[in-house]
Amino acid sequence: MTEHAPDTETDSETAESRDFIREIISDDLATGKHKAVVTRFPPEPNGFLHIGHAKSIILNFGIAGEFGGRCHLRFDDTNPAKEEQVYIDAIEEDVRWLGYDWGGHLYHASDNFGQLYAWAEHLVENGDAYVDDLSADEMREYRGTLTEPGRNSPYRDRPPAENLDLLRRMKAGEFDEGAKVLRARIDMASGNINMRDPVLYRILHAEHPRTGDAWKIYPTYDFAHGQSDAVEHITHSLCTLEFEDHRPLYDWLVEHLPVPARPRQYEFARLNLTNTVLSKRRLTRLVDEGRVTGWDDPRMPTLAGLRRRGVPAAAIRDFIGRLGISKSNATVEMAYLDHCTREYLNKHALRRMAVLKPLKVVIDNYPEGGEELLDAVNNPEDEAAGSRQVPFSREIYIERDDFMEDPPKKFFRLAPNREVRLRYGYYVTCTDVVKNDQGEIIELRCTYDPATRGGNSPDGRKVKATLHWVSAAHAAEAEVRLYGRLFETEIPGSDGDFLDDINPNSVETLSGCKLEPALGEAPVGETVQFERLGYFCRDGSEGDRLIFNRTIGLRDSWAKAQRQAKA
Ligand code: ATP
Ligand code: MG
Repeated sequence: MTEHAPDTETDSETAESRDFIREIISDDLATGKHKAVVTRFPPEPNGFLHIGHAKSIILNFGIAGEFGGRCHLRFDDTNPAKEEQVYIDAIEEDVRWLGYDWGGHLYHASDNFGQLYAWAEHLVENGDAYVDDLSADEMREYRGTLTEPGRNSPYRDRPPAENLDLLRRMKAGEFDEGAKVLRARIDMASGNINMRDPVLYRILHAEHPRTGDAWKIYPTYDFAHGQSDAVEHITHSLCTLEFEDHRPLYDWLVEHLPVPARPRQYEFARLNLTNTVLSKRRLTRLVDEGRVTGWDDPRMPTLAGLRRRGVPAAAIRDFIGRLGISKSNATVEMAYLDHCTREYLNKHALRRMAVLKPLKVVIDNYPEGGEELLDAVNNPEDEAAGSRQVPFSREIYIERDDFMEDPPKKFFRLAPNREVRLRYGYYVTCTDVVKNDQGEIIELRCTYDPATRGGNSPDGRKVKATLHWVSAAHAAEAEVRLYGRLFETEIPGSDGDFLDDINPNSVETLSGCKLEPALGEAPVGETVQFERLGYFCRDGSEGDRLIFNRTIGLRDSWAKAQRQAKA
């Protein structure tokens, strides 16, 4: 099922203030249950953040901002086998880029390893946890299924003193990986599989990015997460719906431990998007198997990829804000993200001229060696953006597609003996077509009408097309990468391996593109509109080479579909 997000200019503030989580928080503050709200965003540093994470970031930091509370950034670094410093650095950069700041509240689950271990001993001493020698396979077998209860492990009734001794020896590194685990002693017959004596600690002889080789045992997500929430005095621990079944365990641990606070977990629906994948496992495969150039490949749904593609952080915040927060899972159309991006860029992006597939035009009656500057509006949607001057001269480039020697009826652009307007410039008429020995068109000859400067004709004669152009002598040369969707299928992998659904033509690289000189100095990361072509962003991945990535074309398929649905 795909969800059509509201098409109206929703006031996202209102939409946001109405979701169920904000209602709970308002109530908790009004009744005095909490004096201040404290949330956290808890990424596991085993990959880059993607647009799904943006939903969680925007929710957690957004709530903290709206209610005058604070939001922590906490690395959930409990699995050293998969976690790396590069991911930690990228996550911090991406959260900041999205527009949020955790102030001094940067934490790591690993900050609590000592405390967590002390609490593990506490559970053992109270008979609430035991060391189990079953192998992973045996544990799976004993666990039962959704329809069958589990069975007690033969090690379940070890006396606390023996468990304590074994736990300490696990910690000291006496046992091999997988030889033993620490499990909570809850209920093997529970209807909720998460309550069937879940694992709290496992043996891992791995180097941890922060604690080095100090630890031979590491807490599981379930054991570390809620207790870290308690240590940080998180009031509302917001996570995605798949953790709903973990909530009884979250509460059980908080109740059985002398934790300094009683956080509560609330679940909301995760963001799913068509035509991409939002699972770190799958994104890791795309990177590791070389299907993309890296985590920040402009086709990736990662924040780093979206940024390189030119999607502004503000457009992502707007998109997420318009979707709102709910408890029902749905899949949002990628075209809707595109729509929000386009809408934002239309208002904010500077207009520039660039010719991607150049065809040279010589204006025969323009003085040889002459040049002049023409006024060009920077953004018709934003007067404050002002204007700039664009050089014009005798030789210019136009888009190859804007000329046809033998045009069909509906082609209104340039053709032999036809007059068109050059944007911000003059009316020109094509007088001749120059071809090479192979019969390919290599140049056009034109004449211009000096009385039409600025694009207006004094005698009111009309032209049917306005073309963008770039002065040949002044042009900056660039490589331009046209990105399409990484997956053409709505739900990649719905019948087979998701890698089989990769669009083999998701990028087209054009070289020798001609840009107006202002673009030669465009800052890396700035997205501009190439007039008539789309939005493009200066890439900074290859030093001084002038490279632009297409963020998105101008045509809004989503808005069009909405209009058709209404008609
Ligand atoms: P994956 O399922 O891809 O491995 P994850 O959820 O394990 O991702 P974490 O680093 O643990 O990745 O996620 C950090 C936070 O972001 C969690 O609170 C998680 O619930 C939230 N999150 C992850 N994916 C989404 C999503 N698609 N929509 C909303 N929130 C998400
Ligand atoms: Mg996770």
